[in-house]
Amino acid sequence: MTDTAAHGAASPWWQDRTPQEIAALAAADGVALLPLAAIEQHGEHLPLSTDLDIALGLVDAALPRVRAGVPVCVLPPLAVGLSLEHSAFAGTLSLRPETALAVMVELGERVAAAGFRRLVLFNSHGGNKALVDLAALKLRVERRMLVVRANYFRFAPPPDALPADELRHGLHGGALETAMMLHLAPAKVRRAAIDDFASIGRDMAARGCVLGPEGEAGFAWMAQDLNPGGATGDARLADAALGARLVEHFGAALARVIEDAHDFALDSLGKRTGRAARQA
Ligand SMILES: [Zn+2]
Repeated sequence: MTDTAAHGAASPWWQDRTPQEIAALAAADGVALLPLAAIEQHGEHLPLSTDLDIALGLVDAALPRVRAGVPVCVLPPLAVGLSLEHSAFAGTLSLRPETALAVMVELGERVAAAGFRRLVLFNSHGGNKALVDLAALKLRVERRMLVVRANYFRFAPPPDALPADELRHGLHGGALETAMMLHLAPAKVRRAAIDDFASIGRDMAARGCVLGPEGEAGFAWMAQDLNPGGATGDARLADAALGARLVEHFGAALARVIEDAHDFALDSLGKRTGRAARQA
């Protein structure tokens, strides 16, 4: 195999391609995918790269599962996101919300300029969620393109993989993320520091509060509001086998999202014309 075949024409990565190949992928109605992550504290047991490692691990799991004939091109990941809620902890990097939104929109504009009309924003960090919504809407308004808001933590989890209580309150560095890291990057996990990280959310729910950090009525929180150590959830429930199952499951879900984005009828993104628009 030549070097070109290994890293060029066969590569899913945008940056491995040439201008001619990018134009050809766009002409073939390809799907562009932008991984969005964070570099932020995840307690003492996980590295700052946790969300980035998970995003790339899920992309790796998804791509071989995408139906043949669906061209996919993966943009360089936006490693740093909006992580102000973790800024009290050393090592957390964050863009300002305005900056992060501008970067997402401007990358989307370049994707559109290259001829792509289908973009999946694939996000692995809860703090980016509001920006993903805004960036997608701005791109939809300004460019007539399909922009998908795909947050893996919103995908339905595999049934019975984790207790409902952990799925609800293990928001950060809990069983879910720790398990996937034990599978994807075991050398980066500080196993001696794995613990049950209690959350104020779990206590409030036990007292019958409607209000909590997330859910029906949520309050804006910084990580230390939920647990002074910065992690929440019972990381002791995590093991590598669970992580492998979660990565397979969420990777398969992402593959379906990519296929659906490819199959979506762009005619549905209508311009308001004619009688109905005039009457509105
Ligand atoms: Zn995370």
